[in-house]
Amino acid sequence: MAKLIHQQNYLQIDRPYITGDNRLHIYCSDGISRVCKLDLLDPQAQFELVELMELAWKCDNRFKLVTLDNWSPDKWFVSAIVDRLKINQVQMINHSSSIDLITKKLYKKAIKYCIDKYNLDGAGYITVFNDYIDVNRKGLRGSCGARTLHNRYIIKISTKGEGDVDVIESIFHEFRHAEQYQLGLLKGQSWMGNDYSHIDYIDQPWEIDARETAIKMIEGFTELLRNERL
Ligand SMILES: [Zn+2]
Repeated sequence: MAKLIHQQNYLQIDRPYITGDNRLHIYCSDGISRVCKLDLLDPQAQFELVELMELAWKCDNRFKLVTLDNWSPDKWFVSAIVDRLKINQVQMINHSSSIDLITKKLYKKAIKYCIDKYNLDGAGYITVFNDYIDVNRKGLRGSCGARTLHNRYIIKISTKGEGDVDVIESIFHEFRHAEQYQLGLLKGQSWMGNDYSHIDYIDQPWEIDARETAIKMIEGFTELLRNERL
C-alpha cells in the first residue's frame, strides 16, 4: 500500500470541474491547477471527493491535498483535507514568494488590527497573499469577494513589487470593503441605497471611503508599532 502524503500549504479553490476522461480539475489559489484521475478511486471515494471539493468551493474552505507520492504540483491528488472556516475566524493563506516569517508576523498583526477596529463580526475571512492577483484589472493590488450565502469573505492581496506599507494599506482597504458589506453600506454596485453602477472605479464612493479609511488605519497602526518599540 502506497504511503499517503499531505500537501504542506493550505489552498483555496476556484470552481472544480470534471472532464470527459473522468478527471477532476481544480484551480487553486496559488495559480496552479491540480487533477485527480477519478478512475483510480472506488466509486464511493470518487463521489465523496467530488462532494468535498464542491463544498470547499461553495463554502470557501481552505484545504490540503493528499497524494500517493512526494508532493509536487503536477502530481495527481487522491483526496483532500478540508479546514472548515467558522464564523468570526480569520485564516491566512500564503503563496507569496516575498513573505518571510517576520513579514508574515507583521501582516498577521495588521489583520488583527483590522479585526479590532472594524465591525467584522458574524462572518469568516480568508486572506490569500499571492505574487499575482487573478482579477482582470490593471494595477489592482487587492480584492474583496463577498459570499453572502455562507457569510464568507475572500480577501486577495497582491505582494508583487509591493513594500510592506503598500501591502498593509491593501489589507486595510480590502477589509474595509468587508466591513462596508457587513454594515450594509455596500451592496453590489449600490452605496447607502443609491445605485452607482455608472460611476468610474476611481470615483465609486466605497472606493473613496476604503482609500481614506486605509490611510487613517495606517496612521493608527504605525503609532501602535512605534509605541511597542518604545
Ligand atoms: Zn477597493
